[in-house]
Amino acid sequence: MKNTTRDNWRVIVEVMPRAREIRAAALGFANLGHDLNGRLTGEAFEMSFAPRRLGDFGWLSVSDCRPGRDVDAEYRARCEEMLAEFLRHEHVRSGRVECDETHVCSHCNFGWEELTAEEAADGSVNQDEHSVEGEPVCCEAAINEFRTERGVPLLASAGGAA
Ligand SMILES: [Zn+2]
Repeated sequence: MKNTTRDNWRVIVEVMPRAREIRAAALGFANLGHDLNGRLTGEAFEMSFAPRRLGDFGWLSVSDCRPGRDVDAEYRARCEEMLAEFLRHEHVRSGRVECDETHVCSHCNFGWEELTAEEAADGSVNQDEHSVEGEPVCCEAAINEFRTERGVPLLASAGGAA
């Protein structure tokens, strides 16, 4: 089956320098405020913020993983909280939470790929006439697992040499 891992969680916000009443200090340039006058100008730009690691308590750093913990859900929740805080600021126009997803096969550990509808119908690419869209391509174990779940006849070579 397809195993999905997520990492590199991040909050991306769009900062709008030209918002009303935005001063340099709002962007972190605190000590320039006295010498500046007027509003900032410039185009909106994006900034990306990484959350603190779950296992990082400042005084102690441990693995993110512990039994029963849904690491992805906790990172998503942490990022959503950060995003909500960013969006309270007038010069943050929009934002989103992102992460990188990696899909690998639980049987062979190769990257997970699936047949497209065109490939499934293409006799030069598919496994046999039973191939359908979404069928994995990496190994026989994954293909037969996929077919068993759907009641599709297994590969003719099932049980033989892979
Ligand atoms: Zn595989």
